[in-house]
Amino acid sequence: MKNTVDTSKRYDFAVIGGDERQVYLKTALARRNYRVCEYALCTPSTGPNRSLIYSAGSLKEAVCFSKTILLPIPMNRADGSLNHRTKNTDLSTDLLLDVLSEGQTLYAGCIPGFFLKAAWQKGVGVYDYMQQEELTIYNSIATAEGAVAEAIGKSSCNLHKSRCLVLGYGRCGKTLSFALTGLSCRVTVCARSQKARAEADLTVSNTVDIAAMRQLLAEYDFIFNTIPEQILREDDLSHINPDAVIIDLASSPGGMDHEAAKRLGLHAWLCPGLPGKYAPKSSAEAMAEIILRSNQI
Ligand code: NAP
Repeated sequence: MKNTVDTSKRYDFAVIGGDERQVYLKTALARRNYRVCEYALCTPSTGPNRSLIYSAGSLKEAVCFSKTILLPIPMNRADGSLNHRTKNTDLSTDLLLDVLSEGQTLYAGCIPGFFLKAAWQKGVGVYDYMQQEELTIYNSIATAEGAVAEAIGKSSCNLHKSRCLVLGYGRCGKTLSFALTGLSCRVTVCARSQKARAEADLTVSNTVDIAAMRQLLAEYDFIFNTIPEQILREDDLSHINPDAVIIDLASSPGGMDHEAAKRLGLHAWLCPGLPGKYAPKSSAEAMAEIILRSNQI
């Protein structure tokens, strides 16, 4: 059955699911006097602007009464359901598609291709935060700071003067290398492209290609992976210094064989969602700016 848009939508935004970023996003919008409907947020509403915030009783209610739907980064959990930390049972992608209607707009991160296509066919405008280059660069700041925090928390040694290997020199790799260099670490960047290595050479101690990196793994105190592919294989892991701390930033399943790392007794952690854990307010403010700039509310 086709849903028709209700021109008397009561809320400007529905903010649904996710981590603390969604909680701050709701507050950021209410602070700007938008009417916000929240559902399945990880922390219940408190504080100012309560009169502009309504708590919906279901996914259907939140979606049907709102002009713009704000889902989290990433949009889905590994099982395909919408990303949330609550006990609500109606957070299914199929139900969401069913209740969305023509003329609505939806924002989320890492939107699956099938969902994009189906929503567009219904006349819903869909924006993936991850396609907004500006946001992904801001996101890399929170990610790099989170990676540093994780490394400090998981090691008994200083980062200062430590030997750090950063795998990958994209957005996260660049920002993290910059942060580690600022903390007086001896940073080696591993990148497959010559151009990326030349760029990294301007600021870090050393650069290596993938083949050279495999020969040097024993030398590092900290290894940070940002490459979204299985770059560290089981035979590579056996060469890593057993005292090294390995922080894998790549999205699940990460850039290494974590089962093998466990078997080898390495100190390796897959660390997803660092912006939501370490800088949810800053991340939410950047998301709000992007939404308000591109949305005609
Ligand atoms: P990006 O800008 O696309 O950078 C990816 C880097 O990996 C580039 O240097 C790329 O090299 C390299 N790379 C990709 N495939 C490779 C391969 N097969 N072999 C060697 N190098 C390869 O991505 P990003 O924004 O930095 O994000 C990196 C990862 O972190 C993603 O998985 C992202 O989802 C994740 N992430 C995690 C968090 C968190 O909280 N943990 C936060 C943000 C992002 P080329 O330039 O040569 O292609």
